[in-house]
Amino acid sequence: MSNCIFCRIASGEIPSTIVARSPEAVAFRDQNPQAPTHVLVIPVRHYAGLNDLTDADGVRHLAAVTALALQVAKQEGLWEDGYRVVFNSGANGGQSVYHLHAHLLGGRKMSWPPG
Ligand code: AMP
Repeated sequence: MSNCIFCRIASGEIPSTIVARSPEAVAFRDQNPQAPTHVLVIPVRHYAGLNDLTDADGVRHLAAVTALALQVAKQEGLWEDGYRVVFNSGANGGQSVYHLHAHLLGGRKMSWPPG
């Protein structure tokens, strides 16, 4: 989608700090980090959010996003101490960008429940 900021990051049209790629997903640093490591992982294909993952293709893309998040967790040295992977969904979930993305957060102790 030409007007989607994360599609434009995935295509390289908008600069970002990319930390990893797979054929189906891209991982880049969040511009407003909430933890020492805060990486967003997106599918290259546009899905507005979790609610759009209605078929096998969607599930495959979700798996690709999750797999890349785990790869980045290892790459960033978060594997042993732990990390958090979050998908915000819709208004009440706190989603502000409507291109599916996982937040990979680590490098500090997380609290629960989240705000
Ligand atoms: P959410 O509120 O779950 O939709 O998360 C959107 C995230 O995207 C926020 O953490 C923003 O800081 C981040 N963000 C928005 N625009 C950019 C950008 N151009 N580059 C990197 N991160 C971005």
